[in-house]
Amino acid sequence: MRSLLFVLLAFTLGCPASHRYPQLIRRESSTPPVTVFHDVRVFTSTDTTALEHQDVRVEAGKIVSIAPTAPAPSGVRVIEGAGKTLLPGYVDFHVHLTGSPAPPWAVAWPDEEHNGRALLASGVTSAMDVGGELDRLEALWKRQGTDWLGPRFTFSGQIVSLRGGYPTSMVKILFPWPASALADQRFSGPVSEPLEAEAAVDWRLHHGAHHIKLAIASVPLNAQTMPPELVQATVKRAHQRGVKAVAHTDKAVHALRAARAGVDALMHGIHLGELTAADAQELKQAGVVVSPTLVVFERAEALVQFRFQPTEMEKRLYPPSFLEPFTPEVNRKQTLDPQLIEWLDQLQADRPKRLAAVKTLHDAGVPLLVGSDAAGSIGCLAGGAFLDEMRLLSEAGIPNADILKGATVLPARFIAGPNADFGTIEPGKRADLVLVDGDPLTDITVTSKLVNVMQSGVLIERVD
Ligand SMILES: [Zn+2]
Repeated sequence: MRSLLFVLLAFTLGCPASHRYPQLIRRESSTPPVTVFHDVRVFTSTDTTALEHQDVRVEAGKIVSIAPTAPAPSGVRVIEGAGKTLLPGYVDFHVHLTGSPAPPWAVAWPDEEHNGRALLASGVTSAMDVGGELDRLEALWKRQGTDWLGPRFTFSGQIVSLRGGYPTSMVKILFPWPASALADQRFSGPVSEPLEAEAAVDWRLHHGAHHIKLAIASVPLNAQTMPPELVQATVKRAHQRGVKAVAHTDKAVHALRAARAGVDALMHGIHLGELTAADAQELKQAGVVVSPTLVVFERAEALVQFRFQPTEMEKRLYPPSFLEPFTPEVNRKQTLDPQLIEWLDQLQADRPKRLAAVKTLHDAGVPLLVGSDAAGSIGCLAGGAFLDEMRLLSEAGIPNADILKGATVLPARFIAGPNADFGTIEPGKRADLVLVDGDPLTDITVTSKLVNVMQSGVLIERVD
């Protein structure tokens, strides 16, 4: 009887909660044939400077012209842009649409609809999903162009991972059962030998995946990592099948293992230990791009130090019931697994090295792409975390123009190739646009001051 009670108690504590999420946005009910952004500063993402006093004309979902400003035309919709900046719609290089950013002491059912709306409300018009349940992602993906209200996206499905290694090893110490089992099933795709890794790649592609995600990381710190032969088998198979492979890495040694196997992108940068200039050169030579996701570690640190504060944007995006467990009063009462604390302590100690590694990569010429781990890491609130990541990259010393390219054209081209029809403001490209109040080239936080969000020529209206 006592053991049954224990099981019931564990089940109750570990069972995810549901929340009532706000609607946030809707697509405008009718779109005029022509929209002109009038007298606006334009950062096209094809250059490192902005064009002043321009008119950008949008027709049938596309950008048709960018020209020096003229008197506002009549008979078309005019959006006044004086003092504002028009940017390509943001592209979040790292999201988990089928995940939740809730803390382990207040596990929440993932809400894909809300994740999508929160991202789009934040100006994220395209995204790359790098880990989640294949069936669910495939179903969401098919709804694009109909009733899916969120970024257009590509997906990888479950993360190809060493059996028993990360992410299984982390999920087990992070969440109480049964949430741990649910999360593991949703995010891990365990393999033990090369043939199994190849089959894992094939299975994902058969179910519509656009790229492959693998994990080479040790959480907790003593967890086993995917050995080189498994990494190579996974990446080689992905490339044979014509898709890219992206890897979750943590230390320089794992980043180099991934790069030497031909991985195309490193997720989470080098967030533990040091990255030397020689390592950065090798990564540059290997042709990888890196998404630092500094926000993941900032948010984890803030929780450990009982100072987590959602941004103003996040307070609008998430209901109070969701944010309440993050408050210091609730947070303080929680106990975490000692192995998790050890990892978090190491993360905190390595913060200066982490920021330095971002600068070292940039100095070596490695492209830095803005990814937020939206709904994939604790406290990485969809949309808000993406905007905060840009602020952190600026703190790491990355020039604003490079951050803006990393938030638009670079991920667009990684996802859709050199002729991507999004990620830049050029005639013929898709009208995915954000209008912000101010100049993000002089102050990166201006990227959060959203005035308008447009996706494929349709304005996204706020409803609150
Ligand atoms: Zn992630």
